[in-house]
Amino acid sequence: MLSFEQLRHTLARLDGRGYKAYKDIEGAFRHERFVLFIDHVQGDPFASPSKIRVRVPQSVAGLPSSLFANRVRRIALQDFLTRTVHRAIRQISHGHRGMGKSGLIAIDVGGQEVLERTAVVITDQWVEARLHVGLPAQGRTILGRQAEAMLCQELPQIVHQGLCWNQLDYAEGERFVSCVENQEAIRSQLDERGLIAFVGDGAILPRASGASEKPLVSGQVQPFRSPDSLRVTFSLPNPIDHLGHRTTTITGMGIPKGVTLIVGGGYHGKSTLLRALERGVYPHIPGDGREWVVTSREAMKIRAEDGRRIERVDISGFITNLPFGQDTTQFSTDNASGSTSQAASILEALEVGATALLLDEDTSATNFMVRDARMQALVNKAHEPITPFLDRVRELYQTYGVSTILVMGGCGDYFDVADTVIMMREYLPHDVTQEAHHIAKTLGTNRQREVPFAMPPLVPRIPLAESIDPSRGRREVKIDTKALDLILFGEETLDLHAVEQLVDISQTRAIGCAIHLAAQRFMDDKQPVREIVRAIDQLFDKEGLDLLDPFHRAGHHPGNFARPRPLEIAAALNRLRSVRMRQQR
Ligand code: ADP
Ligand code: MG
Repeated sequence: MLSFEQLRHTLARLDGRGYKAYKDIEGAFRHERFVLFIDHVQGDPFASPSKIRVRVPQSVAGLPSSLFANRVRRIALQDFLTRTVHRAIRQISHGHRGMGKSGLIAIDVGGQEVLERTAVVITDQWVEARLHVGLPAQGRTILGRQAEAMLCQELPQIVHQGLCWNQLDYAEGERFVSCVENQEAIRSQLDERGLIAFVGDGAILPRASGASEKPLVSGQVQPFRSPDSLRVTFSLPNPIDHLGHRTTTITGMGIPKGVTLIVGGGYHGKSTLLRALERGVYPHIPGDGREWVVTSREAMKIRAEDGRRIERVDISGFITNLPFGQDTTQFSTDNASGSTSQAASILEALEVGATALLLDEDTSATNFMVRDARMQALVNKAHEPITPFLDRVRELYQTYGVSTILVMGGCGDYFDVADTVIMMREYLPHDVTQEAHHIAKTLGTNRQREVPFAMPPLVPRIPLAESIDPSRGRREVKIDTKALDLILFGEETLDLHAVEQLVDISQTRAIGCAIHLAAQRFMDDKQPVREIVRAIDQLFDKEGLDLLDPFHRAGHHPGNFARPRPLEIAAALNRLRSVRMRQQR
């Protein structure tokens, strides 16, 4: 291994030479406090930035082992350290040092959620941060002195300030890790407590704006307060300061398994509550306001998505008798309607083990959700392919054990099928289950239940490996993540805007690569989707996410993956327009 002194010399030597000469600094360099790995040098100042790692021995970093003593804590501390490194970069990095990305130093830091990511890795021996840097140049001429300032002066300061425990705010770190562990402790108890979700008293649900996931602070905010009848208490592994006192218990609203309606007047906070529940499948950072919104890990948001591709899904439980006798037991289309898309998304979620469905009337197809008495009178059932969700929602729970939480301000027909009815009024929830049931008894809907037959059994589908082609032009594998909801997969544009529980573009990046990896390793034209995404998830458990990068064996560490749920990997696979599947009957 070379010394930092030698790195300095090399950079001085490279000053003024052509950009390609930067390749000379690929390798490992020992600093007194850490080792710098320069894994990959970019081709020019405008190309994707270079990849480096800094590895600090625990003897220097001094991270308390209690803070990474188990899986949950380790993931939390790793996430915390991406944030402290990010902060250190902002304070120390000079920034721009030439053309293009020259001077850039970046780490893949998360947002309001705490996710397993590849940006920081902690082991018993060391902690490693994976960074992206723009090696400085003017045109194609190396700025060696600027590079030296970046790598030999700024970087050691960033490492010191961002990764060494004695430089960090201990209390903040401990609070972060404890907070995440508390949330996971609640999540792990939901099932045995008969709950699908929990919303803590005092939680702040509204967000700063439609474009920001930060909590709303300005103006008037109504903190959450559970109705007494739905209040439950959880004990926590770590003490917290809650509602003004130090405690190891937390109270809040438990949403029971079964069918739950969220009703209430327009603009009274219904969708805000549902959105918090959607994101409650992930832990949140302290101060987010939704730290105490915890949802079953396998809860899946479902929405209408007309135009999407559907591949051989048996949607006959919801849709039969389409015009021209189109088969709905293995329904395929390149251009789904609102209702067929929603039906397919539900069956695809069930196929991979969703435990709960989250729906909002705002994003649902009306004709999929309801069909009232007058419409039944006018349009004969013989001419209506749709069995509305209303007539299947109880069956989904009774037959498959899948709960539903549904925002429905516009149609009281659902009172008949709801176990729990929560009314939002002035941003506060009220348990109106009894009133709703009373109304259901006394005020008939006059509608006929439309269930021509029982919900058919789920049909697993087997994806065919040959239908997944990540090649583009001369490149055998070309998968680019352009946005949170957009992957260029080979020649194909994969649109994920309707997969609403994706929260981090690094998850999207992981999904693109995971589909490719799954095709190579697990799609043998026998394994169904469910087994394939489970195998990928187990691989993540065993080996982490580094293996998603096709170049990782050559020592390139991506540093910008975050872990997606198997449900989202399947959702993406289902939206790939080229994918072909076979039903396993
Ligand atoms: P609904 O779905 O009932 O029509 P929304 O959930 O969309 O209503 O909320 C309407 C508005 O109220 C949004 O701007 C939201 O940010 C705000 N809001 C929601 N909950 C609260 C709250 N607890 N305190 C203050 N404002 C809130
Ligand atoms: Mg709404």
